[in-house]
Amino acid sequence: EEEKEKILRSIRTIPDFPKPGIQFKDITTLLNNPEALKLLMDHLEARYRDYELDYVAGIEARGFVFGSVLADRLGIGFVPVRKKGKLPYTTVSEKYSLEYGFDEVEIHIDAFGEGGMCREHPAKVLLIDDLIATGGTAAAAARLIGKVGAECVECCFVLELSFLKGREGIDAPVYSVITL
Ligand code: 5GP
Repeated sequence: EEEKEKILRSIRTIPDFPKPGIQFKDITTLLNNPEALKLLMDHLEARYRDYELDYVAGIEARGFVFGSVLADRLGIGFVPVRKKGKLPYTTVSEKYSLEYGFDEVEIHIDAFGEGGMCREHPAKVLLIDDLIATGGTAAAAARLIGKVGAECVECCFVLELSFLKGREGIDAPVYSVITL
């Protein structure tokens, strides 16, 4: 708990970013704080060491940072989930609603092996992002993992804004290091 307090204290809140009324959680001050970053990554490594994961999938862009470090620590591969139009090879995509309109996330069709299969079973994938708010982005990313034939075994977040109830829309177990 003391460790989580240190991690939380390394994150700052920026009022009115990117628009008026939004209290944006800025995790760049966690990334540039080696003590806090190490505490966080040690915690995640310990939690997931025995999950027998095959891949960590990270959501653009901050999920790339935590996801890559964790994948390397677990000795497994990293897969990027990106916004539409960024991935060069054949992709599978999934839409999700925003306040006005929709957005779309994509993954390479063979990101977890052909048909999502890894050593004769559906690849076991941990999905990670820095923060869950409404949960729309992560829910779409989790559906994508299933769409390409792999299994999303858990969705992991550094921060959860629990009053937005984002975890309720996700069809996988959800773990957050810090719940606000
Ligand atoms: P959701 O789809 O859950 O409403 O929004 C989550 C996505 O938006 C995540 O990819 C997350 O990185 C980004 N996001 C939304 N609000 C914040 C915030 O306050 N701080 C940070 N760092 N990311 C946010």
